[in-house]
Amino acid sequence: MQAMELRAPRSALRWTERADPVPGPGEIRLRVTACGVCRTDLHVVDGELPDAQLPVVPGHEIVGRIDALGPGVDGLRLGERVGVPWLGHTCGTCPYCAGGQENLCDRPLFTGYTRDGGFATAVVADARYAFPLGDQGDDVALAPLLCAGLIGWRALVMAGPARRLGLYGFGAAAHILAQVAAWQGRSVYAFTRPGDEASMAFARRLGAVWTGSSEEVPPEPLDATILFAPVGALVPLALAAVRKGGRVVCAGIHMSDIPSLPYRLLWHERQLVSVANLTRQDGLDFLALAPRVGVVTHTTRYALRDANRALDDLRHGRFDGAAVLVP
Ligand SMILES: [Zn+2]
Ligand SMILES: [Zn+2]
Repeated sequence: MQAMELRAPRSALRWTERADPVPGPGEIRLRVTACGVCRTDLHVVDGELPDAQLPVVPGHEIVGRIDALGPGVDGLRLGERVGVPWLGHTCGTCPYCAGGQENLCDRPLFTGYTRDGGFATAVVADARYAFPLGDQGDDVALAPLLCAGLIGWRALVMAGPARRLGLYGFGAAAHILAQVAAWQGRSVYAFTRPGDEASMAFARRLGAVWTGSSEEVPPEPLDATILFAPVGALVPLALAAVRKGGRVVCAGIHMSDIPSLPYRLLWHERQLVSVANLTRQDGLDFLALAPRVGVVTHTTRYALRDANRALDDLRHGRFDGAAVLVP
């Protein structure tokens, strides 16, 4: 197999040849057909997340077909198309797992971070955390659903029944969520980097009723906002944009420091919360919903060997929607 491997933080991924990994008990091996590139991959490469298991192959929006089954795998078959998300394993016994919050597990494994991911031609995954994808839809189009889509979905659920919904950072997650939110009858207010006319136009095409710079105040107070941009300075702005009792959801795994803010921005029962990881139920719920919504992902394809270029383009906002690596 070939893979793009991170050997040290803040360095480029390196092209690597390895023996095909062998699936252990309860594991499957996939031939990767597409793997999305997520901002979390950038945080891993940039050394912004603690305890990465180096060397590691990044990538946690994996679509592929099963080509080997380890002992004891039930319910999946050779040749089946599956998706492998960020949540790679949970312990099943800690208080969070026992309490229905496996996203907060004390002893988890995360794909492309603490176990090898999908910037590769093959990957081994715990079968219980892989989602059957059926045969409808294109592999490249499906890949961004596996993180941008389903962690975005968890954030949308966390935002509550907000009719007026603000989205800060109009990248891979927001471009999917805007479609879901519009389908649900919500009004989407999209905030982009100042002067980013292309992203504003993209948001309007996907149903946003208002677009503006993240420094702007929306024309009416919002019921909730979700922050996809990893920029702590947006938190006070997002709090200022929501009504009394409104909620601000931070959806990223990493964010620059949040500046100090006057208490009046939080006063009146405004809430500031974060979303961490996903549960398998989030994945099942979202992957069932996406075809009903008719979510169309906008993707830019890169060859697997060009993973560094894809990450760089993501860092600089050089494409709309999501980047997907194709081996
Ligand atoms: Zn656990
Ligand atoms: Zn991700």
